[in-house]
Amino acid sequence: MSILVVGSVAFDSVETPFGKADEALGGSASYFSTSASYFGKVNLVAVVGSDFPEKHIDGFKARGIDVAGLQKVEGGKTFRWKGRYEYDLNQAHTLDTQLNVFSKFNPVLPDGYADSKYVFLANIDPEIQIKVLEQVKKPKLIACDTMNFWIEGKRDALKKLLKRVEIFVINEGEAREFAGCSSLVKAAKIILKEGPKVLIVKRGEYGALMFIGCSVFSAPAYPLEDICDPTGAGDSFAGGFIGYLASTGDLGEENLRKAVIFGSVMASFNVEAFSLERLNALNLEEIRDRYAELKRLTHFEGI
Ligand code: AMP
Repeated sequence: MSILVVGSVAFDSVETPFGKADEALGGSASYFSTSASYFGKVNLVAVVGSDFPEKHIDGFKARGIDVAGLQKVEGGKTFRWKGRYEYDLNQAHTLDTQLNVFSKFNPVLPDGYADSKYVFLANIDPEIQIKVLEQVKKPKLIACDTMNFWIEGKRDALKKLLKRVEIFVINEGEAREFAGCSSLVKAAKIILKEGPKVLIVKRGEYGALMFIGCSVFSAPAYPLEDICDPTGAGDSFAGGFIGYLASTGDLGEENLRKAVIFGSVMASFNVEAFSLERLNALNLEEIRDRYAELKRLTHFEGI
């Protein structure tokens, strides 16, 4: 089943305690599609400028990602994000955001994209997320992400979007900021009242929580010895999560739990290197092995 994603395709300049990358390929849609491409066919919707090299587009194609929906604006500049992480890698500090070609982006879905059954509205302006959603015919599942930049700058559009999505995936700082309270359990109740049936709260190295009505599932993060760069971990998580759901077609709670673990697996690979280096070099066996390790890590019996 094909997966449609809209989000940013970017040049990221990132500094972590372990090194730095300048103008490396990044963006929410890049991480999501590369991660999800291990599970199924991905249709990418985004915009770049004329400064975006063909080699990155070829990289997407090499992973089987459909780039018919990746517009190139002649004379325009690609979206840029600059960020820094300190020893607490869970918190990204944004130093600069340049929307560039995204400030005037009017997404038009190419032929065939409107029939995509799984839709992921990755982190980008919620008005662009809504425009894409309006063009999709009969999706089986709609999920979305966002970030503080949009929670603070486009709250009304974000609330409008939430009425139309089934699954909302955000990180813990954003959940607290959106709901205006520090308890994640209370925040989840507040957020679920806005529309989504499922809320997934990503907690970096502490894993993820999934709230469905009154039920909560807690998934660990894979305990890595060496971490390089957490940029894109959230989007890689979403790629594994939605990718697994699309590959199985089962939206029951038990399967959602497995999908969360595949999300954790993909996020853990991503943080091992800068940009998309690790994600691009994976194979299915490594993914399955790490899933099995996470299963052993969390298995216990008693009572
Ligand atoms: P995350 O998975 O949350 O670490 O997402 C990191 C990616 O989000 C980076 O590759 C950035 O290019 C991208 N990004 C940062 N700020 C924004 C924004 N305001 N809108 C869309 N994408 C962004």
